Parts: sequence; structure tokens; C-alpha cells
Amino acid sequence: MLGVKHFSGGGDARPGDSRWARDEAPERVAGYRARRLVGLARLGATTGSDRERRGGLASLGAGARRCAACEARGAWLALAAVALAFLSAGVARADDATPLVILVHGGAGVINKADLTSEREARYRAGLEAARDAGYAVLERGGTSLDAVTAAVRSLEDDPYFNAGRGAVLNHDGVAELDASIMDGKTLAAGAVAGLKHVKNPIELARAVMEKSPHVMLMGPGAEEFALEQGLALVPNSYFRTDERVRQLERALKEEKEKALRTSGAMNSARSVGPRRSATIDRAAAVAAGDESFEAAPIGTSGTVGAVALDRFGNLAAATSTGGLTAKRAGRIGDSPIIGAGTYADNKSCAVSSTGDGEFFIRAVVAHDVCALMAYKNISLNAAAHEVIHEKLEGLKASGGVIALDQAGNIVMDFNSDGMFRASRDSRGRKDFAIYRERR
Ligand code: ASP
Repeated sequence: MLGVKHFSGGGDARPGDSRWARDEAPERVAGYRARRLVGLARLGATTGSDRERRGGLASLGAGARRCAACEARGAWLALAAVALAFLSAGVARADDATPLVILVHGGAGVINKADLTSEREARYRAGLEAARDAGYAVLERGGTSLDAVTAAVRSLEDDPYFNAGRGAVLNHDGVAELDASIMDGKTLAAGAVAGLKHVKNPIELARAVMEKSPHVMLMGPGAEEFALEQGLALVPNSYFRTDERVRQLERALKEEKEKALRTSGAMNSARSVGPRRSATIDRAAAVAAGDESFEAAPIGTSGTVGAVALDRFGNLAAATSTGGLTAKRAGRIGDSPIIGAGTYADNKSCAVSSTGDGEFFIRAVVAHDVCALMAYKNISLNAAAHEVIHEKLEGLKASGGVIALDQAGNIVMDFNSDGMFRASRDSRGRKDFAIYRERR
């Protein structure tokens, strides 16, 4: 097993060292650092709000001991707090002018109905609905759209069925490299991270970059050093790896080899095709070169996740997280962490999270393009998304889709691929899940 066995051994590596850049280098980190990682990983399991809650409870307990005579006043205060909470929950209810809305996706691509057993479908459904409901619960409590999309994406990152966080696809070297981004439609503040190998929840780091650093995007070792400073949970790379992703990589490498043998001839193919060409990445190149015969990636090799939300304050937010493409070249970065391509949010137009052929989504600046079309052409969200997905992307022979939402609560979950795992919920009573065009 990669990683774990080295976790507490090795030299005195720092993230800037070349050793850190090697596959299992972080697992060889020196004792002091391993202890720090483990300690911080544990700390990461305790959120700020948990800590605040505990602190609050502790001081409440001390206060109660110090002032037993205040109990009656305390009871009145508690009653008032309950009444306030009830009222503020009411503000966010369905009849309000600003609906609460959350949309989530779990990736788009070739989703062969024959490959999707009912057990698998049920598992995807459960994961997406849990994420959607986690985000919606935040909105219902009066929380912000930023908190809602963070909660939804974190839930999908923790679900090994999706290609983000645990269960992320593996690169050509068998390593998970993770990307994520988030954007606040109210302020246009944004945070993005790329090439992570140890951050348990990349979306939390993207959020920290947005809120706790002067930057928009951090990558690789520098980003992970920042995660350490922020007390986020760090894990060995083997945490992300699942048996299914290992099998997918093996299949992709085998296909790559067979393709090389077919194209170059059995004798010289091993020499003429470098070991780092990626079967999945080759799909994009094949499509660009007009090679229609290239087989599409099978179900489960995509599975990027994303969420967009509208809160009671009328603010939009978007977030996306991914392991990228199976067998991608080490260091490859797709559209998901690129603000404007994978993620964009602007209260003046819309919030978008994309999924699909990343190289094309970057070129087409998909997420921003949907927002820009709305703003510049003064067209509906639906028309803008349609133009980007069915005209621009199809013109490029690129496959994928978006989830998008505007300030009025209009939604789009559109794609030009076979399907897109998606779910939605709003305060007007909408609550659904779908994969293919028809709603389930
Ligand atoms: N867009 C992602 C990437 O290229 C992959 C996906 O959405 O499936 O990294």
C-alpha cells in the first residue's frame, strides 16, 4: 500500500523539498512533522464552530455555577432565544420573496445504463441527496450560500463514490491529486487550490484561501503548508485511494498500452509511446483531432462534484471539487479549480459549477461565460447555459454540463453528455434527483 507504511518514518522533509514532491514523500516526513500532521489532522476534525460551541457551553456552565439566582432570568432569555430562532427560520421559509435553493452535481459523462446497476444508482443517489440536504439544512437554518455549498461539497468529498476527496481518481503514477474552488457571488471573492495530495477536504482549503489569505489560488506544497497553518485535516495520500479507482487506473493504463500497440505496431510501440500519456486525457486529444472512434471514459471515471446555492440574503455561491481525470499526467490541472472555467458566482448574473472535459472547459471559460452571456446579452439563465453547452462546447466537440442558479431562484442543470448526476432542493417544494434527461 502506498503511503501509510512510510507515514511516521523518513527524513526531515519540508514541503518545498523535492522529496515532498515525490509520490510517497510526505509519508516519509520526520517525526516532528508527522506528529504535527497527525495532531493537525485530529484538530481538523474539530471545526471552528464546534470549538466555539464547546467554549460557549463551558462558559455557560461556569456562569450557571457562579449565578444560581440568575436561573429565572436565564430561562426567559432561553425562551426569547428560541422564539428568535423560530422567527428567523420563518424568514427563510418558502413563502419568502427570496427562495432558498441548492443544486449539486456528481459529474457528467458517459453513463451507460447497462453499467449502472440499481445498487450503484442507489448509492450515487444517496450520496448526492445527503450532500444536497446537508447544504439545504444550512440555508434553512439561515446560513449563507457559501456555508451551504461548502457543506454540500465536503459531504461529497467524504463519499468514496465521487471523484473528489476520498475516492478521487488516480493520476498516471497512481497518486490522487486534488483540485477545488469556491466563489462568493456577493463580493466576487474567490479561493482555489490545485495539485493537493494530503488535504482531506480540498474545498475547505479553497475557502480558507479565499477568506484567510490575500490570494485567490494556491497549488501543491505551498497550498498544503497553508492548510497546516490553518489547522485543516491532512491525510496520507492512500486515504483517497479506493479499490475501484485502482482498477480504473489499471484499465486505463491497459487501454493506453493496447492503443499504443494498435497505432504504432507491436514491436516498437513500447518505445515510441512514452509512459506518461493518459488514456483519458487522450480522449480530448482524439476528439480535437476528429477521431470519433475513441472510446469514451466509462462511468465512474468522472464524478467531479459541485454545488451552487442561493441564501435568504439573496446571495449566490458556487463550489467545485475534483480528482481530475483518471491517468492524467502528474501535475495536470483541469477546469475545476479555475475561477471562471469550473466555478463562478456573481449576484448580478448567476452561480455556476461545471463538470466535463476540463481542457475544453478552460478554453471555453465555461462558468464565467454563462454569467457573462446573461449580463451582456441580457438573456435568461437557461438561454445562456444552453448557448454555452449546446453551441460553444458542442462546437468544440467537448462533453459535460453545468449546474447554475440566478438570484431569482431560476435553475439550470444542463449537459450535452449521456447524463449528469444531479440533485436539487428549494423552499418552494422542489426536491429531486436525476441522472439522465428524464427526471426520476
Ligand atoms: N472537469 C474535470 C477535470 O477536467 C473532470 C470532470 O468534471 O469530470 O478535471
